[in-house]
Amino acid sequence: MEKIKMTTPLVEMDGDEMTRILWKWIKEELILPFVDLKTEYYDLGLEYRNKTNDQVTVDSAEATKKYGVAVKCATITPNAARMTEYDLKEMWKSPNGTIRAMLDGTVFRAPIIVKGIEPYVKNWKKPITIARHAYGDVYKASEMKIPGAGKAELVYTAADGTEQRELIHEFKGAGIIQGQHNLTGSIESFARSCFNYALDTKQDLWFATKDTISKKYDHTFKDIFQKIFDEEYKGKFEEAGITYFYTLIDDAVARVIRSEGGYIWACKNYDGDVMSDMVATAFGSLSMMTSVLASPNGYYEYEAAHGTVQRHYYRHLKGEKTSTNPIATIFAWTGALRKRGELDGISELCTFADKLEKACIQTIEEGNMTHDLAIITTMENPTELNSEDFIKAIRTTLEGLL
Ligand code: NAP
Ligand code: MG
Repeated sequence: MEKIKMTTPLVEMDGDEMTRILWKWIKEELILPFVDLKTEYYDLGLEYRNKTNDQVTVDSAEATKKYGVAVKCATITPNAARMTEYDLKEMWKSPNGTIRAMLDGTVFRAPIIVKGIEPYVKNWKKPITIARHAYGDVYKASEMKIPGAGKAELVYTAADGTEQRELIHEFKGAGIIQGQHNLTGSIESFARSCFNYALDTKQDLWFATKDTISKKYDHTFKDIFQKIFDEEYKGKFEEAGITYFYTLIDDAVARVIRSEGGYIWACKNYDGDVMSDMVATAFGSLSMMTSVLASPNGYYEYEAAHGTVQRHYYRHLKGEKTSTNPIATIFAWTGALRKRGELDGISELCTFADKLEKACIQTIEEGNMTHDLAIITTMENPTELNSEDFIKAIRTTLEGLL
């Protein structure tokens, strides 16, 4: 079979630990034999980030702006223990944080659904994608402990010195206060990323806040979404046969639980943090969760939602075979290859991505899976494979489909 040709390179961001090992195996077994792979390679492994003073992370984000599509392996976010382990010059920032800030993007997380790994919510049949706003609110709040009686106010001083005040509370005794903020520009980018991603994946978009209580703060989120929708996206949504709807967050959670899935749920920062963990757990497994960073300008970076699976890596280093699940990382590759195919008009690349995903799902549904799935599946007598054998099994299924 002739290999599929590519015209534009993918930005390839290599990573750390067990996922770096899987990365290599996935490429060798599932991609290179079938695709004449073009990538621009950036090594975001912690050693090389340290060596380049993290410049490589910045360069990889710049390359994503240039080419439009990146695929990223999980990376270590350094903490005190990693400082010693890797003899780091500095506690480098999370690469995901750096890339997200540079692309001004929103992260969309969606579960991969297979028969035999059943969601805890029995009517969920299709994926629920969570879009989390990644700026501000409680994550950038200022807080104060109030020791005793006194007046607390919000004060805004404009550039010309004029002041605007709002009473928070007349304290009679001790208490606590918190000041949150967000930026119109950031909310607009969030809204556009969500509308674009809905069009891209042909799914309805839901957005919910607590605007009935928060009449200025949350209401502004609601208003910005509605204005951008009406002015820029209404026609495109009608053409695509999808809808945007806003509802109160209380109503949204009730509807989500009763729904069959198949839509995007846009959440404010805190709601997205909590709801994405809830939805991921309810769908069964973090190792089956994909993640894509989409920018309002149409740049995409695909990855797995899980980390570098450190515990498995240490076992791998001791020469043990591990049963680490490669599915979410494979789907990062298929997501990126399909997007590249769409942008460059290479339909064979899209078809290949579809078939590789199908091969993953079929292999699991035929009873072959890694340990994490074998312990939660409803299938009787599943075959538990190590990562290498599982990837080989996917290759056999894929060859049958091609
Ligand atoms: P993790 O790598 O997601 O792993 C936590 C545990 O979840 C694993 O020990 C394993 O459980 C299970 N698990 C996760 N992915 C799995 C897979 N593909 N197959 C099988 N089991 C899987 O999270 P972590 O241990 O908290 O973090 C490790 C490193 O990853 C940290 O340095 C962190 O900074 C980084 N991280 C990176 C990203 C990213 O780049 N996007 C995201 C999160 C964390 P068992 O050990 O019980 O089998
Ligand atoms: Mg969380």
